[in-house]
Amino acid sequence: MILEKDLLARLKSNFGYDSFRLEQQKIIENILSKNDTLVIMPTGGGKSICFQLPALFFEGITLVISPLIALMKDQVDSLKANGIPATYFNSSQSDEEQKAVFDAVVNKEVKLLYVAPESLSFLQNILHQNYINCIAIDEAHCISSWGHDFRPSYKQLAFLKKSLPEVPVVALTATADKATQEDILEQLAIPNATRFISSFNRENIALEVRPANDRVQQIVKFIERRPNESGIIYCLSRKATEQLAGKLRQNGIDALAYHAGLSFDERAKTQEDFIKDDVQIICATIAFGMGIDKSNVRWVIHYNMPKNIEGYYQEIGRAGRDGLASHALLFHSYADVIQLRQFIANTGNQEVQEAKLDRMKQFAEATVCRRRILLSYFGELVDTNCGNCDVCKNPPQFFDGTVIAQKALSAIYRLKGKEAMGTVIDVLRGANNASIHEKNYQQLKTFGVGSDISWRDWQHYLIQLINQGFCQIAFHLNNALQLTSFSEKVLFQGEKVQLTTPVEVTKETPAKVKATKKKSATKDSLFERLRKLRYRIAQEEDIAAYLIFSDATLRELETQRPQTDDEFLAISGVGQRKLEVYGGEFMEEIKSFIKEKKKGKKDTTLETYKLYQEDFTIEEIAIKRGLKEQTIFSHLAKLYLEGKDINLDKFIDVNTLKLIQNAKKVLQNETALKPYFEFLEEKVSYEQIRIGLTILQKKSI
Ligand code: ADP
Ligand code: ZN
Repeated sequence: MILEKDLLARLKSNFGYDSFRLEQQKIIENILSKNDTLVIMPTGGGKSICFQLPALFFEGITLVISPLIALMKDQVDSLKANGIPATYFNSSQSDEEQKAVFDAVVNKEVKLLYVAPESLSFLQNILHQNYINCIAIDEAHCISSWGHDFRPSYKQLAFLKKSLPEVPVVALTATADKATQEDILEQLAIPNATRFISSFNRENIALEVRPANDRVQQIVKFIERRPNESGIIYCLSRKATEQLAGKLRQNGIDALAYHAGLSFDERAKTQEDFIKDDVQIICATIAFGMGIDKSNVRWVIHYNMPKNIEGYYQEIGRAGRDGLASHALLFHSYADVIQLRQFIANTGNQEVQEAKLDRMKQFAEATVCRRRILLSYFGELVDTNCGNCDVCKNPPQFFDGTVIAQKALSAIYRLKGKEAMGTVIDVLRGANNASIHEKNYQQLKTFGVGSDISWRDWQHYLIQLINQGFCQIAFHLNNALQLTSFSEKVLFQGEKVQLTTPVEVTKETPAKVKATKKKSATKDSLFERLRKLRYRIAQEEDIAAYLIFSDATLRELETQRPQTDDEFLAISGVGQRKLEVYGGEFMEEIKSFIKEKKKGKKDTTLETYKLYQEDFTIEEIAIKRGLKEQTIFSHLAKLYLEGKDINLDKFIDVNTLKLIQNAKKVLQNETALKPYFEFLEEKVSYEQIRIGLTILQKKSI
């Protein structure tokens, strides 16, 4: 009988965590009772521990089937870093290596063995209940042709339950839909598996959608506010990834492109660099990130609109696996929607795909909490707003846009429904370009009636008119804007139209982001120093940096500053082995940081004190120390208050001191300097006021 306290002890010593998340504990207990189990949890939810922790309690091995070889090495590294013996088997290993794996299994020297489904047939000899006590099937949706990532090699897995009927099978996936769930259980022959389905809400990911104007500039600014953070930018085409990475580099941002057109080696190298924090930013087509289990991706940007919400959700899910605040930014462009529609038109299954694209578009244009839309898409009904999306933080302001709507619709009417959005806006704004003149549009009655509204705002308003059905895009006629039956109501029947004010995108609202920015921006913060130390150790050990400690753990080290083994072990993410292997170096770094900080502060005023005692003037001290005179005065004031032998009186004459004393009474002991400066009619300098107040404070007058 395994008790809760045993589970918690193992959770701490081998994984470094103090408590279970969500349903982890129930799942683990179910597995330890040898029941078949289905685990549905979003990416980053914490699936791995669900089978890795029980593995420690089984006498034999837990066999883990995983589709991606790259991921396997990572997971095995991660386990080893936590002091859990684990290994993997694949067909590219030498005979000797493979034999070593078999020996380790037969001798029960490892707790977990990872293998790709293709390689299972090589393991015939050890597929026996004597050796294998549990089977975990990661990315289990790959078995189902209903899923979005079907892999034929997963089809053969049903034989596992048949040949090892006593061994519990655990299927894990982040794919939610019902059809796929049923299919997984059927295909794996585990119809009675206990199901654990977690919420899909990833609260730590802030959601934001912006119009796609000046995307590159917006992205540059976004990144500049987040120095040293890892992020992924998803683009629609290979070319776009390269162009964007190039532009970012021109702006001094270290970014690489990743797409299917690169050679295998190039892709592997880029992925490796990203995992190891050698490069922070990747511009990628959707292929990137599939097998990456990097916990400190801080943000994901969609340069282009995704095809559907499933894809969008999966991609943003690659951010913030460590549970720290992360950001998902989507650029919404009408041109993208039009392009995606054209892609869809040439494929099968057109209707379904169009409907999915429509849902995506509705999400991007939403004026209600975006997380609620997202979760309801996955069948989770929530009745509160999330507070962590742009709509919640900055609710749209509606105003009476009837006149704007009338102008826009009459322009579309005058243009006979033949022109796309760009030309409609040009006409409204009275643009004098060649194509307008060619068609004589400057003669139209509506030409220039909207010149007071910027191009961008017009775009914003037109999109809303389309969404509200007052006009439409004729996709089959070069995307011309046309009137609808609703238009008449606005044009002739006096119907009112509500529009939202365009949001100013340059300023960033979320307080959380500002806080992280401040912290990470300070180059010599403790976090930065710990991050560098982590990077150095990762290089030496040739493993991914986040496998040593996650960002969340570094943050806690920064705030708690542990200096003893016990204190260090109390940090979330620190287990016994990590304490033993890394504790020393990290505590050294923390101690030296604290020491330097103390020394740094003392030094600076004491240095001034020394020079003062040697009878240098304020001006001379300032020059010698390369500091401003004001700073020297503030040092002296501080030393004076500390009781050091400083004669401040010699820097101020008695009359001035009296004036300040008088002001102090009138101003009722005000401490800010400006009121004094003004009260004394700007005749006494700030420096003199500061000195005067210091003297008065010391003497308590
Ligand atoms: P998934 O496989 O579901 O995408 P992981 O198993 O990779 O997620 O876990 C995501 C992150 O959460 C990892 O960094 C993991 O160490 C961390 N984690 C898992 N369980 C806990 C827990 N109980 N407390 C704190 N962190 C946890
Ligand atoms: Zn919200």
